[in-house]
Amino acid sequence: MTQSRIVLYYKFAPIKDPEAVKLWQQALCRELGLLGRIIISEHGINGTVGGELSAVKKYVKQTRSYTPFRGTEFKWSEGEADQFPRLSVKVRPELVAFGVPEQVKVNAEGVVGGGEHLKPEQVHELVEAKQSEGIEVTFFDGRNAMEAQIGRFKNAVVPETETTRDFITELDSGKYDHLKDQPVVTYCTGGIRCEVLSALMKDRGFEEVYQLDGGIVRYGETYQDSGYWEGELYVFDGRMNTRFSGDAKTLGECVNCAAATSRFHNCADRGCSTLQLYCEDCSHIPASTRCAGCTARVKAEPEHPNQGHLGKKRRRLTSA
Ligand SMILES: [Zn+2]
Ligand SMILES: [Zn+2]
Repeated sequence: MTQSRIVLYYKFAPIKDPEAVKLWQQALCRELGLLGRIIISEHGINGTVGGELSAVKKYVKQTRSYTPFRGTEFKWSEGEADQFPRLSVKVRPELVAFGVPEQVKVNAEGVVGGGEHLKPEQVHELVEAKQSEGIEVTFFDGRNAMEAQIGRFKNAVVPETETTRDFITELDSGKYDHLKDQPVVTYCTGGIRCEVLSALMKDRGFEEVYQLDGGIVRYGETYQDSGYWEGELYVFDGRMNTRFSGDAKTLGECVNCAAATSRFHNCADRGCSTLQLYCEDCSHIPASTRCAGCTARVKAEPEHPNQGHLGKKRRRLTSA
């Protein structure tokens, strides 16, 4: 019996010729029979790759042999490779689409000017040390706001973001200026977004920015539900939500009846990427009901009832 594995990884490093790296990665994955999703930019690489155990091991070794990718941390997971429909290797302007590729500076050590990395234990040390001085540490959510509906750090600031690009507007709006002289810890699912977000914040005058190393995933492995994390984690695969222990709180509310739930459902419009929370009793509703955005669109242009609003694609598996 063959064992299959998945690896998730990212590495910020200057890449002179992303197209060449793309061709190499594509050929490597095909040769090893791997599937998944890889993004390459001038800032580095971000991927989720799966396949037969020995093939994935070879992939890791080969990828690390390329000087800019030396030392890349690969996070291993037991998942089945068949959750990937295909192999997709793409060159993009950014690894995480904040929409400001020119504002992100990268050197061999990673993103230039990012927040100090804190391991889960160090986050607790920081909060306690500041508390003894009478200062509160603010957790700043680096994900899309929808994800925070079911889980977030205690008293976290959750920016109004539908996509990653919205962070720029939010940061420049002045809404968070009161945090500029306060200790702020940014967090996201696996850490990659905070590498960039924390640098963009420091660039904009936030003086004391830290980032949660390894993201919520690593924090949850360390503290489960006994630390500062509350609720469930939104994940980019078919499960949509996962919990760290049986003690996880249910923070989400059904959009129909307000009952507690952590279960996201897709809008009935196949082209729409909107996810909404429904409880068990109301779960029949999303199968036949469009989201508010789609309902408004259908009313406005009844002649094209099957087109998704905004032309967005459904959420796909990603290692963000
Ligand atoms: Zn309900
Ligand atoms: Zn919709």
